[in-house]
Amino acid sequence: MPLPSSIYNSPVFHQACRQFDEAADIIGMEEGVRQRTKQPRRCLTVTLPVRMDNGTVATFEGYRVQHNISTGPAKGGIRFHQDVTLGEVAALAMWMSWKCSLVGLPFGGAKGGVIVNARDMSPGELERLSRRYMQEIATFIGPNLDIPAPDVGTNEQVMAWMMDTYSNHVGHYDPGVITGKPIALGGSLGRKEATGEGVAWFTKAYLTDMGIKPQDTTVIVQGFGNVGSETALALAAWGAKIVGISDFTGGFYNAKGIDIRAALDYLKTHKALDGFKGGEAMTNEQLLEQPCTVLAPCALERVITEKNAGKLKCRVLAEGANGPTTNEADKIIAQRGDIELIPDVLCNSGGVIVSYFEWLQNQSAYYWTKEEVFEKLHKQLAKAKASVDETKAKYRCSRRTAALVLGISRVAEAKAKRGLFP
Ligand code: NAD
Repeated sequence: MPLPSSIYNSPVFHQACRQFDEAADIIGMEEGVRQRTKQPRRCLTVTLPVRMDNGTVATFEGYRVQHNISTGPAKGGIRFHQDVTLGEVAALAMWMSWKCSLVGLPFGGAKGGVIVNARDMSPGELERLSRRYMQEIATFIGPNLDIPAPDVGTNEQVMAWMMDTYSNHVGHYDPGVITGKPIALGGSLGRKEATGEGVAWFTKAYLTDMGIKPQDTTVIVQGFGNVGSETALALAAWGAKIVGISDFTGGFYNAKGIDIRAALDYLKTHKALDGFKGGEAMTNEQLLEQPCTVLAPCALERVITEKNAGKLKCRVLAEGANGPTTNEADKIIAQRGDIELIPDVLCNSGGVIVSYFEWLQNQSAYYWTKEEVFEKLHKQLAKAKASVDETKAKYRCSRRTAALVLGISRVAEAKAKRGLFP
């Protein structure tokens, strides 16, 4: 559990702490190392006055939490969403630490967030907010200290404005400060697809282990942003049938299959999927309970709960989102025993792996082809899958706990070896 007086206290931070404790218990992590490894290292809260198009000034609150900087610069996305809290950002930062450690990246973990409904902003307002946020956190981050990236509500354009703001701050072009940038500004080929490509890679790998073929696979994806749409595209390209998609306005189910390209085209002319005619409209909650081989939550945390975990009709639960499954739901899924859960820290790690490749390319100013990026990505994913499966068998635990055992023990060992200052 978190420290009793923790400023991060919130259901999602507790969720991350309980996951950590379960893994720490299995390896018998000693209390001093445990608290030191679990608690976020430090955080920054910023107030962001932004001039709106109508001439008024609106003020927003933002955060940057660095969970671990003992094993390299911290790494983690920036979320723009109306429900962001400091506790949520801290939980997401903690998961970044375990993810980077699990897949063998030389990074710690961090996350950022601003409480804002960016969908209601004009491009000009969004640019001013993005630049102001970067200006305020500029002294707290850097290519060797903490490297942000996109998350919910932010994209390549936001990364470009932030990179420009930081470069102006330090006085020279410094693309390595942020990843997920446009290709023209030092972005990596394959980064846009990377998280969904990774989710699809793990899904295909586990389905193959289970002897399930592409033509026998149906898929429901919750959230149709960067991760959800790329996951759907990659699984459809493999031969699976996408039967459900959704966004914040609701879900669509079609047992005959949804035309993903048509849904993406619809989004070019409409702000959301609302009104899409490619399937039967239903709520997100209803969509999660429809029959499918693969359910891939790719939106927000805590959507698989004790209320619906018993009603899921999938064989594989592929966590594209961070923290979609509550601790109670984890228990129900374990008791059921009929669902293969691919945990977030493993399942969506393709994004940060290619962000690492982007940072490496920026450091050397030498750029790779998309084929090189994907070949290296797939190798790293295969290594991570093998180590998680081996650890799962060794400790006879859930796949989530196995992934966390690997993630947390490497961070704890590094901290112990570095010693305590002073
Ligand atoms: P995004 O902003 O591109 O897309 C989010 C999608 O979720 C949108 O379609 C949005 O409408 C939908 N959504 C929002 N609220 C919803 C709700 N209440 N119910 C259903 N759908 C809702 O964000 P993204 O980058 O695709 O991130 C999605 C998830 O994947 C997050 O959990 C994020 O932390 C995680 N993730 C992202 C990356 C990345 O590279 N972008 C990497 C690893 C993990």
